[in-house]
Amino acid sequence: MKTSTSKLSSLQPEQLATWATEAINRSKSGQIPTYIPLLAGADRQCFAVQIRAIDGQILSWGSVDKTFPLMSVVKPFVLLYLLCELGEKAVFDCVGCDPSEMAFNSLTQLEIDKGKPRNPMINSGAIALASLIPGKNAVERCQNLGNWLNQQANSQLFVDELMLDSVNAMPNQKNWDLALAMVEWGYLENSEIALETYNRVCCLSGNVEDLAKLGMVLVNSGEAIGENCRTVKALMATCGLYEASGRFAVRVGLPAKSGVSGALLSVIPGEGAIASYSPPLDKEGNSVGGLFLLEQIARVC
Ligand code: GLN
Repeated sequence: MKTSTSKLSSLQPEQLATWATEAINRSKSGQIPTYIPLLAGADRQCFAVQIRAIDGQILSWGSVDKTFPLMSVVKPFVLLYLLCELGEKAVFDCVGCDPSEMAFNSLTQLEIDKGKPRNPMINSGAIALASLIPGKNAVERCQNLGNWLNQQANSQLFVDELMLDSVNAMPNQKNWDLALAMVEWGYLENSEIALETYNRVCCLSGNVEDLAKLGMVLVNSGEAIGENCRTVKALMATCGLYEASGRFAVRVGLPAKSGVSGALLSVIPGEGAIASYSPPLDKEGNSVGGLFLLEQIARVC
């Protein structure tokens, strides 16, 4: 009996090009974030996508060599790394696993939750988890995470030092407030090293190929990390797009994670990964063009 090829791997380049062109058009309604100076200068029109299917098919379109910081797209991978290194108990003693109702950097949400981050996909959760990454300082911690990810994914992530300088040039008061509140509630020991590590891992950068390869780690996971990948995909599905996660689940139904750079990663379990980059964001901080594209793919796959 002939096994049918996956729908993802039978997507046609012309189809992808049509969707991507429309995605660029739709992205005009989005905003470029201004709180990180170097991100504020991003090219609104830039668009890149790579789709990798489990059978080896790769489909790309747009500025595929353009590198960008992962920003919050790194969060599921911080979680995966720590689940593999430290185990579930250490991770979920530190962060919850429920969807949030407020913005990704909301102090009110953290206060309602008595200082325990609601989940690993919002800033408080990722800052708390950054403090658990092994290593004697932020540089070493980020190196440990980056090396592990590049090994797992065969990717070439690097720290964009200029982006990091830009992040540090305008200290993010909201993230500081989150870190200090977690120290007060006893969920964080050292706010400085946690934030320094968090800012650094957010500046791990690559192109859409690197991002799609990271996604394939979650799809192709062998027995050793399979259970942890399942946990990560579940949290991406329920929390990956912040307070828009529930709405997105109804419309698209795929685990996804966005970043303020305009990066967006989604996986179709058992089929493949879709990575895109398009800077304009909607009011929740998710890439307008990237979400549009995912919606189109989900309709046919
Ligand atoms: N480094 C960014 C911040 O803390 C990441 C947030 C994001 O991508 N949503 O604001």
